[in-house]
Amino acid sequence: MVKKCDTGRNPDNKALIEAERVTRLLPSQQKNHPTTVPADVSKLDHINTYGSLPEYYIDQVFTCRQCGQHEIWKAEDQNWYYEDAKGHIDAIAVKCHACRKQKSAKGVAEQV
Ligand SMILES: [Zn+2]
Repeated sequence: MVKKCDTGRNPDNKALIEAERVTRLLPSQQKNHPTTVPADVSKLDHINTYGSLPEYYIDQVFTCRQCGQHEIWKAEDQNWYYEDAKGHIDAIAVKCHACRKQKSAKGVAEQV
């Protein structure tokens, strides 16, 4: 069974503005933000990259590719996606919860 990751759905403007603000902070400030989730590098050994692995995850605002809705890919969901679902490090959320649900049979692959 795939764990449900339903946070970040239908964010209000305040949440969107705050998430946008955090993405523009300095790394040292991001690390100390309450919504930041530290990465466990030992769980990222499936990732083959010449770049550096993330030290932490922060909430990411994105626009749904399908319906244009703004949504937040929560740090805790990224943590789950990369470390437990073993997602590719270059994969990012492109569809909102509602659009992903339409094809939920495909599971987490729809997040990519
Ligand atoms: Zn959508």
